[in-house]
Amino acid sequence: MPEATGPAPNHPPLPDPLPRPVIDAHCHIDMRDGDRHGAHDAQTPDESLQLAAAVNVTGIVQVGCSIRDIAAAVAMAEAHEGIVAAIGIHPNEAPRLAASGELEAALVEVERLAAGSQRVRGIGETGLDRYRTRDAEGWAIQEQAFRAHIDIARRLGRALVIHDRDAHDEVLRVLLDEAAGAGLPQVVQFHCFSGDAALARVAAEHGWYVSFAGTVTFTNARDLHEAAPIVPRDRILVETDAPYLTPTPHRGRVNASYLVPLTVRRLAELRGDDLATLCDDLHANTIRAFGDWV
Ligand SMILES: [Zn+2]
Ligand SMILES: [Zn+2]
Repeated sequence: MPEATGPAPNHPPLPDPLPRPVIDAHCHIDMRDGDRHGAHDAQTPDESLQLAAAVNVTGIVQVGCSIRDIAAAVAMAEAHEGIVAAIGIHPNEAPRLAASGELEAALVEVERLAAGSQRVRGIGETGLDRYRTRDAEGWAIQEQAFRAHIDIARRLGRALVIHDRDAHDEVLRVLLDEAAGAGLPQVVQFHCFSGDAALARVAAEHGWYVSFAGTVTFTNARDLHEAAPIVPRDRILVETDAPYLTPTPHRGRVNASYLVPLTVRRLAELRGDDLATLCDDLHANTIRAFGDWV
C-alpha cells in the first residue's frame, strides 16, 4: 500500500502543524458517523496516527464504549505505541444492555480487560446523558453503571472518563457522593466538557481534568468560551471525540485527530496563552492523567 501523504479527498485538509507536540485525549478511531457524514470509511489506526503526527499530534486515547468496541480498543492500544485505551459502557448503551440482561456481564468484561492490559489507562466513557436517554428508569440505570465504573477506576487506579450531556448537576451529585464515600479515582476527566464557567470552577476546586473538544471553536459556544480561561493550566486537556464534533471551519465534515490543532489554537486565543506553552501544558497533563505512551 502506498504511504498516505494527506487526508482522503473527501476529508478536511491538514491544518498548520502545532509548534510543540500534543495528544488527542479522547477519540473513536474506528467509529463511523454514518448519520451525519454519509457512508465513509473509518480511518485505520495507522492512518490516524500518521496524519496526526504530521501536525504534531503525537498520541491518541482510543475510547471503546460498547460491548462491541472495548476489546478492539484494547487490541489497538496493544498494537500501536501511539495509542492507549479507555474502555467502558457508554451511558446511552447502559439502559439497552440492562434491558437485555447484559449490563452486569459487560461491566465484568470491562474490568477484566482493563485489569489485563497496562495499555488501558482510562475507564469510560461513563456518566449521565439526559439528552438521548429521556426516561427516569434509563437515568437510574445510567447512574448505577456510572457508579460501577467509578468503583472499577478507583480499584484499578485508572482515569475516570466522564460523559456528561445535559446532566451537569446530576453528574456532580454522583461525584461528590462517591468522593464522600469510598473516594474518587485519582484522575477524573470531563470529556468533551460542555459546562460553563461555574462548572469549570467546581472542577478546578476538586482537581478534575477538563477536556475541550471542537465545540469550543463554535462561535455560539459562549459558556465554553467563558470556561476555557478558568481551567488551571495543569488540568486542561484537548480532544477530538472524533468522528464527531469537527472544529470550525470544517463543521459538518468528519473529524479526526489531525484536526486537534484547530481546537488548540482557539483555546490559546481564549485563554491568552502562548501557543507553544499551551501545547507543553496539554502534553504534560495528558501524560499525567493517562500515563506514558511508550
Ligand atoms: Zn461522550
Ligand atoms: Zn466519546
